[in-house]
Amino acid sequence: MNYSEIMVRYGELSTKGKNRKLFIEQLSRNVRQALAAFPMVKVQGKRDRMHLILNGADAHDVMGQLNRIFGIQSFSPVIKIEKDVPTLIDTAIQLMKETYCEGQTYKIITKRADHSFELDTNGINQTVGNAIIDALPFVQVDVRQPDLKLRIEVRQDAIYLTSEVVKGAGGLPVGSSGKGMLMLSGGIDSPVAGYLAMKRGVKIEAVHFASPPYTSPQALDKAKELTVKLVPYVGSINFIEVPFTEIQEEIKNKVPEGYLMTITRRMMMRVTDRLREQRNGLAIINGESLGQVASQTMHSMMAINDVTTTPVIRPVVTMDKLEIIDVAQQIDTFDLACQPFEDCCTVFAPPQPKTRPTIEKAREYETRLDVESLVDRAVENISVTRIEAGQRYLTQHEADDFDDLL
Ligand code: ATP
Ligand code: MG
Repeated sequence: MNYSEIMVRYGELSTKGKNRKLFIEQLSRNVRQALAAFPMVKVQGKRDRMHLILNGADAHDVMGQLNRIFGIQSFSPVIKIEKDVPTLIDTAIQLMKETYCEGQTYKIITKRADHSFELDTNGINQTVGNAIIDALPFVQVDVRQPDLKLRIEVRQDAIYLTSEVVKGAGGLPVGSSGKGMLMLSGGIDSPVAGYLAMKRGVKIEAVHFASPPYTSPQALDKAKELTVKLVPYVGSINFIEVPFTEIQEEIKNKVPEGYLMTITRRMMMRVTDRLREQRNGLAIINGESLGQVASQTMHSMMAINDVTTTPVIRPVVTMDKLEIIDVAQQIDTFDLACQPFEDCCTVFAPPQPKTRPTIEKAREYETRLDVESLVDRAVENISVTRIEAGQRYLTQHEADDFDDLL
């Protein structure tokens, strides 16, 4: 079929009152970015719908880019034809032939904005309906709950037809809720947390703590690869590697075993919060899930959260492990996350961390560390990699191999 445009229906946007304009602008930018490979496509963000004028681009290629963009409820490829009854009939039959599946029922839904058109709404329904029954006698009509809706809209400039409705990703346009710092380990939970935050419109930067040589280059690569999996929902994500070795060694040397984990987390939270401040973020996002491990009891959260008043968003906090795994599989991060490379927490983790740490003790043990300058040095020595859609960057490994070749 020779589609002329993709019509995009907004998700929750439509209920957002005065923010609506901003949301539509953000969505338009995100769509433009996702369609960078299709410069001929014109994006028109109108109040009720967005129209992507194809100008010759292939409708299905373009639609393939849309299903991971948050803020889109559904979309439909649309054909534009001249206002002529025989053309309308031919196109309707064509469209039915292409999109109708055996055994389905259908219904024609007509809207006529141009009242000077030669047929009225009923006339169009009858004329087109009869022609379809003649051409495709096996097609059943069901006016109550049709499987397929053939929509015909007669406007001033042309007639528009569409029958396919593809479900979009839902949520809010990424960026419309501001930016948050995602604490991204190499595990199952934090990538899911990042995905869910993006779905609510949060633009993310990924913060990863690495403690070489205790943690391997593979562990770092894994966190980057996980970021690559999240990129298609946004277009690009900054991956921030934080050197964490010095802090971990200090903690290991000066803090009693039962509080290693608590203080480690407090330091991570401080560094992340400093980065957030520098980079104009509004929140911290992590993959904590209530009760999953010792560091994720409510006592623990309280002791860790003591270091900041920044909102800490925990998208998976109430989800069961199996529910989290479900999402991880959907977004294709599960297999990667299951690779065995240790992250810094596992390496230094005591066999039995306290499940009921107290804020007072945590603060007291921390007086043994030079907290401020440790945070300063970690923040000064970050390295930032911008990871973009469709980009295949060299993993640490490959880069090393490549250097060896030279
Ligand atoms: P995940 O599956 O995300 O690794 P987890 O169940 O292993 O989570 P923890 O190890 O207790 O949980 O970590 C809790 C959260 O702390 C993680 O979800 C992540 O947000 C953050 N975190 C842990 N380790 C790191 C790290 N090396 N770099 C960045 N963030 C981390
Ligand atoms: Mg982990």
